[in-house]
Amino acid sequence: MKKKLIAGNWKMNGSLAANDALVRAVAAGVADAAAEVAVCVPAPYLAQVAALRGTVALGAQDLSAHESGAYTGEVSAGMLRDLGVHYVIVGHSERRQYHAESDELVARKAQRALAAGLVPIVCVGETLAQREAGETELVVKRQLAAVIHLNGHCISEIVVAYEPVWAIGTGRTATPEQAQAVHAVLRAQLQAATPRADRVKLLYGGSMNAANAAELLAQPDIDGGLIGGASLKAPDFLTIVAAASALAV
Ligand code: PEP
Repeated sequence: MKKKLIAGNWKMNGSLAANDALVRAVAAGVADAAAEVAVCVPAPYLAQVAALRGTVALGAQDLSAHESGAYTGEVSAGMLRDLGVHYVIVGHSERRQYHAESDELVARKAQRALAAGLVPIVCVGETLAQREAGETELVVKRQLAAVIHLNGHCISEIVVAYEPVWAIGTGRTATPEQAQAVHAVLRAQLQAATPRADRVKLLYGGSMNAANAAELLAQPDIDGGLIGGASLKAPDFLTIVAAASALAV
């Protein structure tokens, strides 16, 4: 079985002191894990975490769709690569919602990441209203289609995170069956785009925690998790990593 990927998304949390303690604890706890582990940290802390991370992969939470130039406040793919970044989240629902990021912009960000040798973690997911209207499949397929359209030739290099918006930070998790059903749809969509779809990791994100991770991660098309709140507490995050490791044997 391929190794699961457990990626923490710290969002806009942290401080030099708090990060130091958290990364040291996570790095020590995952040294022998049979899972890939990453932390996606705020840009100002990338260099700090790079120096402490051990075997934990370094991730960023966003990048510019532009290569370089007069884009005040933006961070380029090349800058992230300079700092040792491996993963970069694109299209998180908080960016789609609060920064009006379109499917097309998300696809361009994924393209920029791939061109720089970074692995984009492409987030897709429906709102509660869309789920209740029976539009879940339509929405996630439209979001992923934009990324496939622009990046078809190297689509097997991406990671996809299915994150139902109604489950993010709410404590309300998709059931393993609900998550698996959407993951199967995404897998089929990738299979139609590339013969290497099986190597694409499909993560579930949305209130995954120490108590529910094992059941979610046991689903056949759930290859890991994108973890928000629970990634800020080392014991919780390590419990999720342990659940993923247990499934690798
Ligand atoms: C996220 O921000 O990607 C996320 C899944 O958050 P949480 O785990 O807190 O729901």
